[in-house]
Amino acid sequence: MSDDAATLEALVAGLDIEGTTCLLRLWNPAHRSVEYIPLSDGSWLGWRAVDDNRYCCGRHVWRQDGMPAWLPCPSVGRAQSSKKQCQDCELADVFLGLHQVHRAGARLSDGLNSYVMRPHYLYVAGFADGVEKVGTAVDFRKEDRLVEQGAVLATRVAYCSDGKMVRHLEDAVSSSLGLTQRHSVNDKARGLANPVSPANLRSEHGRVVDGVCAFVSRLHWQGVESIRENWGSEDRIELACGMCDRTLYPNDVRVGEHGLAVQGSFGLVILGTSDCYDLVVNLSTLISRRVQVGPFISSLPPKQDSLF
Ligand SMILES: [Zn+2]
Repeated sequence: MSDDAATLEALVAGLDIEGTTCLLRLWNPAHRSVEYIPLSDGSWLGWRAVDDNRYCCGRHVWRQDGMPAWLPCPSVGRAQSSKKQCQDCELADVFLGLHQVHRAGARLSDGLNSYVMRPHYLYVAGFADGVEKVGTAVDFRKEDRLVEQGAVLATRVAYCSDGKMVRHLEDAVSSSLGLTQRHSVNDKARGLANPVSPANLRSEHGRVVDGVCAFVSRLHWQGVESIRENWGSEDRIELACGMCDRTLYPNDVRVGEHGLAVQGSFGLVILGTSDCYDLVVNLSTLISRRVQVGPFISSLPPKQDSLF
């Protein structure tokens, strides 16, 4: 396919959330503009890789109201090896050190300290492969965090006075109940290609949440309130686990041309169709890459060849 006015060259700079919809954030350095592609049912996502380089995805800053905001990289520089930022953006990012805030000796800027001292939630999230994990979310991102994580269903199990308390609680739940804090995006994609049944997902999630709620309420920690708030929908569970013949996308998303009709997304993992295939596409390696966005299509083997 040749270049034409329908294509846009941009850096795939991250994921934004609007309600329960994931939006792919595209930064166009030539026009200094941001565009978003909704990864929701009915969207077309087509792209062509521009080069092999990885570029800086920018940094987070504080707005005047104390809320975080994203800014593109001022120098449009390359990303550091195995990172998504250049060194300047990494060091300037206001979230630098966020995951160490509850460790002894951690030093926080005033802005990050205000953020950390906001109320936080502890949640248990269930994924399509039946894996359950524990995680944390600041109060105003209690929904967005679950959407960007690609959770299929979740339950908020504790309301904590601040972000240090919730991280201590997360560590206690993890070590005492053997519940993981991480579920890799590759494993999330594999899970969506080979999901457990909706009934099994619900029952395993309920069992794990019962255990965590009982554990949290026994602790009697000051600043920790035991709660049980369910998140998710039957439609979301059905989308993730209702179909069992999806195929992991066989092509490297960083090379060549790709296109699919999007059915929905779980974080950076997209469900879509192309050329008679129902596909699971992991877009995480597309972050930091420059692409042309437009009406490109994927080249897939004929289905009867069963090359997958
Ligand atoms: Zn940068």
